[in-house]
Amino acid sequence: MAVWKCQECGNVVEARCKPGKCKSCGAPKDKLVKEAQPKK
Ligand SMILES: [Zn+2]
Repeated sequence: MAVWKCQECGNVVEARCKPGKCKSCGAPKDKLVKEAQPKK
């Protein structure tokens, strides 16, 4: 599972693949950046 952070609103989305857009503000996927997350 990867964590993606929206650069527009700061919303964090957990998804296996990069989301098409931010669920919170609707920003396009190029605004979503992968966040480092320790392995579980
Ligand atoms: Zn957003």
